[in-house]
Amino acid sequence: MSHAVARLRATRLARSTRPFVARGSRAPRCPQCRLQAGYCLCAWRPKVVAESAMCLLMYDAEPMKPSNTGWLIADVVADTAAFGWARTEVDPALLALLEDPQWQPYVVFPGEYVAAGRVVNQVAPMPAGKRPLFVLLDATWSEARKMFRKSPYLERFPVLSLLPEQVSRYRLRRSTRDDHLCTAEVAALCLELAGDRDAAAALGHYLDAFTEHYLGAKHALPLDEDSPSHRALRDFL
Ligand SMILES: [Zn+2]
Repeated sequence: MSHAVARLRATRLARSTRPFVARGSRAPRCPQCRLQAGYCLCAWRPKVVAESAMCLLMYDAEPMKPSNTGWLIADVVADTAAFGWARTEVDPALLALLEDPQWQPYVVFPGEYVAAGRVVNQVAPMPAGKRPLFVLLDATWSEARKMFRKSPYLERFPVLSLLPEQVSRYRLRRSTRDDHLCTAEVAALCLELAGDRDAAAALGHYLDAFTEHYLGAKHALPLDEDSPSHRALRDFL
């Protein structure tokens, strides 16, 4: 499967009448990983097998942002689909994916905003021939709330709500200080809950390496390709 977020980005670029200018975009960027020359992450893309699949619903310019981490999910999880979200229309390919009987979709969203009967906190063992499909809303929190409310085609699926203790255990292990998890971290936690431990670990380390390359490029710092994240990624290359 070609890279779903890259395709979405290309479609959006082709459609826009005005060129999208990312901040600080004057330096040439690697067309694959979008990072500046000298900070390319491509050689560090982990190769793992995952039972789970991901479906990214991306708000507006999300696929265009250099800091978007949904991109990293598509790098690591082979079965990743990505769709631009719009209130008034829905891509028939998204509906077909959600209908496909090989998948068990889970909409990942905080349970406190959802009728209790729909909320689950674990990924059930899949019957033969079924695999989990995690639907992630790749957006800011207020955008994600709007997407959740205004996507009636998601209403019949269970909502996987990450428990505070699951999130804080995960955060502790990753020793991240940020208050909320980014989309790639949410995906990694979903992979963990589904038993895709290698893919979960690889995605976490890949995100850390991405952050180092991204910030390195931004502040013109030297890259340490022997940092813990890079060392951990060597197991997956
Ligand atoms: Zn690259």
